[in-house]
This record gives sequence, C-alpha cells and structure tokens, in this order.
Amino acid sequence: MTTDKNRPACPICGKPTDERRKPFCSKRCADVDLHRWFSGSYAIPVTVDEEDDERREENDGPTH
Ligand SMILES: [Zn+2]
Repeated sequence: MTTDKNRPACPICGKPTDERRKPFCSKRCADVDLHRWFSGSYAIPVTVDEEDDERREENDGPTH
C-alpha cells in the first residue's frame, strides 16, 4: 500500500508516524510530548467538568 502521503507526521519532529506510536514516530517523541503536557498542563483547559460529574455521581450514589 502507498499510504505514505496520508500518514500523519509526528507533531514533535515531523517524521512519519509509527502506527505503534501514534501519533508520534517513536517513544522518545511521545515522552517529549508527555513532558510538554505535564509542564504546561496549567495552560491547557482542564476537563474539570468530568471530574465534577464523577463527584456528583458519588454523592448521588444511593440512587444508583
Ligand atoms: Zn518524532
């Protein structure tokens, strides 16, 4: 198959994505992205709503 053109590039280094490391090309790039995520997580809109829902469910437990 010639799906190279359709294969997305690694967001870290731009190399072709490895199917096993999607969406990255290697574990190293995945780690780099992970570190970026943690170090800059405060800048990303956290999904507080999900946590809130879980807590609500816990509080409404008896009705379950
Ligand atoms: Zn990469």
